[in-house]
Amino acid sequence: MLENCKMCPHKCGVNRINDKLGICKAGAKIKIALVSLHHFEEPCISGDKGSGTIFFSNCNLKCVYCQNYKISHEGKGKEVTANELSNIFLAQQEKQAHNINLVSPTIYVEQIIEAIKIAKKKGLSIPIIYNCGGYENVETIKMLKGYVDVYLPDFKYFDDELALKYSKVKNYTKVAQDAILEMHKQVGSPILDDNGIITKGVIIRHLVLPRIY
Ligand code: SF4
Repeated sequence: MLENCKMCPHKCGVNRINDKLGICKAGAKIKIALVSLHHFEEPCISGDKGSGTIFFSNCNLKCVYCQNYKISHEGKGKEVTANELSNIFLAQQEKQAHNINLVSPTIYVEQIIEAIKIAKKKGLSIPIIYNCGGYENVETIKMLKGYVDVYLPDFKYFDDELALKYSKVKNYTKVAQDAILEMHKQVGSPILDDNGIITKGVIIRHLVLPRIY
């Protein structure tokens, strides 16, 4: 897929293996900017021990209001192999994280699946969360079946003109709806364990954007 990248709905068709860059500006290697135990996601995600977040560099959305601008727009971060990423997953599990929280993973799905496969062989057992902006290919989401336990998509816009103006993407409404339906088909509605921590399901986030009218 990286040789003719159509991983997200932009379908740039560039050869990322040969250092050609598409809209997201991501290369063939996984690039990450931050690994943390996040205590400020939804309570059913962060719980009392935290969510094991991994923030990926670059993004297929170009939101003018992005709070992680340096990471998502400027690509700040460090390259890691799939094996190194699998070790990061396991380190988060060691730290008692409730889950692995993949933040803006869309443009690295192929490589992330590889990392999950390796990590599971080494003993990764906590839920995997796919935390994305909602601008996803159904075909790519289908590749994640069986690897992702919880989908955490944004549904940012119900107006394609606003999506184009503020995130530079076309057809956001239909694209995101189709992707979310596929996510729900795979994992269904939220299931919480006895401690109120999500183990499976879809949670949709809506953005509140002040002064947009
Ligand atoms: S992942 Fe990046 S290169 Fe691939 S289609 Fe999307 S924006 Fe283009």
